[in-house]
This record gives sequence, C-alpha cells and structure tokens, in this order.
Amino acid sequence: MGFVVVPPPPPPPQEASSKTVPLRKIEIRKGNLSPVVRCCRRERLLYSAIKSMPRRLLTLPVARIRSRLLRWYDSGKRDLPWRKDRDAYGVWVSEIMLQQTRVAVVIPYYERFIRRFPTVYDLAAAQESEVLTLWSGLGYYRRARMLHQAAKRVVAEHEGRLPVSAAGLRQLPGVGRYTAAAIASICFAERAAVVDGNVERVLERLHGRKLSSAEHWQQAEALISPSRPGDFNQAIMELGATVCTPQSPRCSSCPLRSICRQQGALAAARKPARSKHRLTYLLDSRSDRVRLVQRNNTERLMPNMWELPASDEQGPVAFRLRHSITSTDYAVEVCHGRARTGKYVALPRLAHLPLTGLARKILRKAELLGQRR
Ligand code: SF4
Repeated sequence: MGFVVVPPPPPPPQEASSKTVPLRKIEIRKGNLSPVVRCCRRERLLYSAIKSMPRRLLTLPVARIRSRLLRWYDSGKRDLPWRKDRDAYGVWVSEIMLQQTRVAVVIPYYERFIRRFPTVYDLAAAQESEVLTLWSGLGYYRRARMLHQAAKRVVAEHEGRLPVSAAGLRQLPGVGRYTAAAIASICFAERAAVVDGNVERVLERLHGRKLSSAEHWQQAEALISPSRPGDFNQAIMELGATVCTPQSPRCSSCPLRSICRQQGALAAARKPARSKHRLTYLLDSRSDRVRLVQRNNTERLMPNMWELPASDEQGPVAFRLRHSITSTDYAVEVCHGRARTGKYVALPRLAHLPLTGLARKILRKAELLGQRR
C-alpha cells in the first residue's frame, strides 16, 4: 500500500502580486525568463502581472493644452454646415455621416439630407428607400438604416427630442460611445470625451509612442475641458484632421508644438495588403431606360440597393473603371449586352433609386445619370 501525496491548494493568483509574498530578488524583463524563474509558480504569476501592467503615461500639462487648443480653435475653426447652431438633430446626422468619411465628402450629402429631412419627424416618416437614395454614394449604408430606425424611436419614445446624456444617446440604434459623447458634449455640454482616429493620432504624438485603446480614452478624459467640453472635443479632432495629419503633420503651425514629444509622424505600422478583384457588369440600355437588378434584402452588404446586372461573359467592352471599398480594389469592366436578370428602369427614375456607389459611378460614366447638385 503506497502513499498518495496530495499537494496543498495553490495560492490564489492575486497573492503573487501582493507585497507580502516573499520573492527572490530578480530582474524581470520581457523575454528573459531564466530556467530558475520558470520553475517558480509565484514568480511566473508576478512576471505575467508585470507584463500586463500599463506603461506609465507622461504627465501632460493639461491646462496649457486646453487653453492653447481652445484659442487655436476659436481663431480659425472651419465653417461647417452643422456648426451653424448646436441643433442636436443636425449634429447627430453629421456625426453619423462623418464615421469613416471625410468632411469634404460629407458636406454636400449633409446639406441635401437636411434639406429633405429638416427635422427628426421628417426622417422618421420617410420610406427607407428614400433615405438610402439620399445616402447613395456615401457608403456604409447600415449607418443610414440605423439612423432611420433611431429617428423612429426618438419620435415614438422621446417625443421627438434626442436624449440629453451620452448614456441615453447610446440606447439609440447606431449610436456608439464616440457618437454619443460627441453629441452630448457639443449639444448638451456634458463632459464626455471623444476618441476617433484623429484624437488617437494627436495623443500618440504628444506622448511620442503608441497608446492602447484604454490609454486613449483615459487621456482624452483627463484632457477634456470641463467648461467647454464640446469645443474642446471639436478642437482636438480638428487639429488631427487639419494640422496633425497622418502623413505630413504641419508641426510649425501646431498650437501644441512645444508640448509635443514627437513633432512628426510616428513610424507607421505596415498596412495590410489590399485585396484585388475583377468585376464585369452589363450595360443594357435602350433610348430612355437601363436594366438594373435589386440586391436581395438578405444580402449582408447593401441589401435592397440597385445595381447593374453582373456578367460572367465577356462582351464588347464599353469602358473600364476602378472602384475601392474598404480594403478591396475592384477593376471593373462594363460591357454592352442584353441582360436576362433585373428590369428596365426609366432614366428619370434613377435619381430616386437607392443605387450602390459603383452603379452610380458606372451610370454617370455612361452619361445615363446626371451629376448631383
Ligand atoms: S507638433 Fe506636430 S506631431 Fe505634435 S501634435 Fe502638433 S502637428 Fe502633431
């Protein structure tokens, strides 16, 4: 009969990082675990705790950053249509349109959209197809669908008024942490920090190194002005968009130059390779009509939107063009031919159909659709 040795239960993990646990004095650096260290469980736990500790952030001169940024913003902020007043509906529409899209692209879409849907009631009462038609060409159509659904909810549940806090705004479809904070700070003076790509870049350059997502938010919350949160948020985003740009920051014109550790671009991470695809479409047009197909409403991308019929066969090529969506580049060939799918659509109706961005591009190039005003 032998003995069964039952080992004592292991100490709870937090014990390893506690100061009361006696540990050998060792220098622990990333990647230099010695065989001795490897055999000790408590030291291994300490090592992993050290590895996951946030690196110390620089202490930034908060008051100086606030005052310089706000002075710079007051002296030359861009004249943007959604800045004419602090109407929450207009700011909300602009913030949704600005997701993944540059200001210059958004402005004409925003102006058309607000002309057609001047209030949240007008938007809530619209057909989804009309909302998509006005969004057509701006891409990321899920944003438009969510905005439309949220407008219906604002009318049904909030008497047509947007919630006045970031927490309340986040309950609406399509409104995430950034958008809620932007609206709440700009329109309702809530001290809610924003972090978008522009803010991340400015913060990283001020610190002179890459920051984690948690560090971005922590820093933005520490810096935001308590008296002018909306203006501060817009100022730091504007600095990233116009001065502290990704490729060639204009440090000589930057109000934060003397505080900035980097004063220039950080080494860029290598961009993932873009994928390339070929597409062929049929241009089947008669004197005043063109054949289009409507995408299925179960499609993951652009459901219900209209496009030209795709083709596997090679016909006489009318023209070629290039089109890019997120990380994919398409080489598009448009051929003359007779399509068997879809239906003929009268040319004057095209302006009222939710077309995909690529269909709009092709129809414009074929001079079947006018330029938008
Ligand atoms: S000094 Fe240059 S790198 Fe630093 S925040 Fe200003 S523009 Fe960006």
